[in-house]
Amino acid sequence: MAALADRFRSLTGSEPEGFWFAPGRVNLIGEHTDYNDGFVLPFALERKAVLAAGRRHDDQLVIASLELNEDVTIALKDLAPGVGGWDAYLAGVVWALREAGHAVGGATLVLSSDVPLGAGLSSSAAIECATVAALVDLYGLTIEKMDRARVAQVAENAYVGAPTGLLDQAASTLCEADAGLFLDCRTLDTEQVPLPMAAQALEILVLDTKTPHSHVDGEYGTRRRTCEEAAEILGVDALRDVTDLDAALAQLDDDTMRRRVRHVVTENARVLDALALAREGDLEALAPLLDASHASMRDDYEITVPTVDLAVETAREAGALGARMTGGGFGGCIIALVRAGDADRIGQRIAEAFSEAGYGRPEWFAATPAPGAGQLR
Ligand code: ADP
Ligand code: MG
Repeated sequence: MAALADRFRSLTGSEPEGFWFAPGRVNLIGEHTDYNDGFVLPFALERKAVLAAGRRHDDQLVIASLELNEDVTIALKDLAPGVGGWDAYLAGVVWALREAGHAVGGATLVLSSDVPLGAGLSSSAAIECATVAALVDLYGLTIEKMDRARVAQVAENAYVGAPTGLLDQAASTLCEADAGLFLDCRTLDTEQVPLPMAAQALEILVLDTKTPHSHVDGEYGTRRRTCEEAAEILGVDALRDVTDLDAALAQLDDDTMRRRVRHVVTENARVLDALALAREGDLEALAPLLDASHASMRDDYEITVPTVDLAVETAREAGALGARMTGGGFGGCIIALVRAGDADRIGQRIAEAFSEAGYGRPEWFAATPAPGAGQLR
């Protein structure tokens, strides 16, 4: 925070009005269910974006990132979608708030984040949601939390131009400490799901395989279209509405389509099972669901890659209770449910396995569910 305040002072000659933060997130379970109107269960990380922020009275937006050692100045009247650049994630929030009719003026926003960029832990939602939190407080706006998440999503979709769902922003905004966020992607109903990891001597290993995502956009689009086509054949609005899996599979001729449908339907069921187990307070019982989710992504949805599979297998061999890839696939992160204190040893073991296989070095950390966006101090 000292470095943020220093930078803020050098840009403005004054002290920041405050510090706001929003976290990255991992999805505990529920992969590729969001665009099928289904269920997801993310939790927020202790890793977060922090902003030193203050209002300006010259109708300018001054945005700086300590990580990139860059700053950008934009006049409010020049805010326009599609300009791009890292600053668009923050400028887009100002634009989205003003488009929605909120009285937001100029601001200086100095950013620092320890959410790794592009690892699938949602560094983008973290910086958007921190910006929303700062501007809401600075300009005294009244916006309920789900609508704050939607503003951040509008910034990412319309201003940055990245077509993402609401999961990341909802998690970064609405999550609470020691809880996951159950989200029904159709109704946007949410439930805080108790995940008292530390109290049950558990933690989550988050390991970034550092595999570059290749073909991810094309594969994502293909998966999405297959799901839409299947829903059409089955006569349902979305695969979330499939209640009898066997009957549905019998109606589909194409084997690939059958396996895609089976993933989505069983994954939704696993999220509901996880919700039920967490409500009962049995977190170790989540482990087999994580394993089953991974097998389904590997065999039916075919979105894993060899590094990810090796990381998951090695985590289990090294004593993880359960493990799965998390995120859209074709690289990115895995999570493993492990006994408290085990995360580092298991991460180390995976690094060794990667080295033996000729893969690059992964990065990892231990996570417990942390709170969503707010003001610091
Ligand atoms: P993810 O959300 O999975 O980390 P994205 O591609 O959605 O990956 O978002 C990453 C982008 O967010 C970066 O390319 C950059 O433009 C922006 N970003 C994230 N963190 C920072 C930061 N600390 N400083 C500047 N830009 C950042
Ligand atoms: Mg992102």
